Amino acid sequence: GSSPCDDASLPPQPHVLLFPFMSKGHTIPLLYLARLLLRRGVAVTVITTPSNRPFIAQSLQPSSGAAIIDLPFPETLPGIPAGGSGVESVDNLPSISLFFNFAMATQLLQPHFERLLHSLLPRVTFLVSDGFLWWTLDSASKFGIPRFVFFGMSNYIHVVLEEVFNNNDGPQTHNDELVSLTPFPWIRLCKDDLECLVLRSHTKTSTEFRKKVGSATANSYGMIVNSFYELEPLFIDYWNTEYSAPRTWCIGPLCLDQKVQYSKPKQASWTQWLDQKLEDKCCVLYVAFGSQAEVSAEQVREIASGLEESKVNFLWVVRKKSEWEVVEGIEERVKERGMIVREWVDQREILMHESVEGFLSHCGWNSVLESVCAGVPILGFPLMAEQPLNARMVEEELKVGLRVEVEGGLVRKEELEKKVRELMEGEKGKEARKKVKELAAMAEKAVEEGGSSWCTLETLIHETC
Ligand code: UDP
Repeated sequence: GSSPCDDASLPPQPHVLLFPFMSKGHTIPLLYLARLLLRRGVAVTVITTPSNRPFIAQSLQPSSGAAIIDLPFPETLPGIPAGGSGVESVDNLPSISLFFNFAMATQLLQPHFERLLHSLLPRVTFLVSDGFLWWTLDSASKFGIPRFVFFGMSNYIHVVLEEVFNNNDGPQTHNDELVSLTPFPWIRLCKDDLECLVLRSHTKTSTEFRKKVGSATANSYGMIVNSFYELEPLFIDYWNTEYSAPRTWCIGPLCLDQKVQYSKPKQASWTQWLDQKLEDKCCVLYVAFGSQAEVSAEQVREIASGLEESKVNFLWVVRKKSEWEVVEGIEERVKERGMIVREWVDQREILMHESVEGFLSHCGWNSVLESVCAGVPILGFPLMAEQPLNARMVEEELKVGLRVEVEGGLVRKEELEKKVRELMEGEKGKEARKKVKELAAMAEKAVEEGGSSWCTLETLIHETC
């Protein structure tokens, strides 16, 4: 990698280091942030590992002016079996259950990171580190560099986690009992909400990891949040008045940054299909479950049948090879009503397409924000991590969508069919569509010059540079 050059004749240029966690969902928003900072005249260096570099380089484009530096990642990681060797991303782990081992192993990067901090020019003004890379706090402190933490989650989630874990004695659900949060009595969490990846595991490794991440976060200079004030004022104000540290800085939605190019065919097959739908005055449901989540074959089958029965037009991204077999033949059966895409798509472009009127989503936070910004209501189909809480937020707080109900560990085709119709044709869908369009307009305003997120970023740069 190269580093930005140092010219003594110029006033010192602020220089921000971005260190994303090794998964697409955590990396993409920080790449938007890189571009935002570059446009404000800040030098940006993105830290990553060799096999994550191409995606970052491609997303940022060489002309962006950001430097990318990769740190050598060990071939074998403690606690990761041989089949997972050489894996540098959570997205490629043989099983998501190895998450905590992988996350702990990132600390092996620390000596390389510190050698870099020692030599990097221009001097680093501040670091934005993914929250999972807890050890970057110590490294940054050694060099007197303020560390901002970034988790890619909403303030709502941060507040809920804080209330459940630090202001109570941990999750208290017994069987299916609901737990309500004292300051927000209407938020009644059920067991599924708390069965999040971050919360579920109680091994020695996961407990240690959570402790380290919690303490590094509390001791960081600030927390950058991909959200905007008008979206969740209650939770932003609550965080900043009730908790001592770190202060949150809402500078999103970061996805509203100008287009990020991924490598894709010039005229993607789905673009034509969507254009045709628009011409035929048909509404389309976009279906996608993010870059990580594992969906069982049985569940994929229920989804396929539910979509078939719903009679809606759908564009479904099925990225895992193991799932292709299960959806085989569906396109023939539904004829031109459905399209399956088997590759990485430009999700923002799809959501922005005028024919797309609904999003069946796993409710990763990036997907939720992208949908909100596109004014598309959501049918939440959470699978893991904090997704059940995001889906709850979508329905109960933001009121921009609905959620599917799980029955015996599965979402049945009848349930899916019913909710899909409700979203696309029903009264609740209509209300959600109206609300999401209002929020989309507010999101645009927030990132415009003088808007809430724009001003917050401005203050952040001035305060720290
Ligand atoms: N994404 C994409 N194309 C794909 C799959 C995912 O552009 O084929 C993007 C999506 O737009 C979002 C990110 O990958 O920005 C996924 O993040 P999210 O938080 O929604 O879910 P995760 O993948 O972390 O579960």
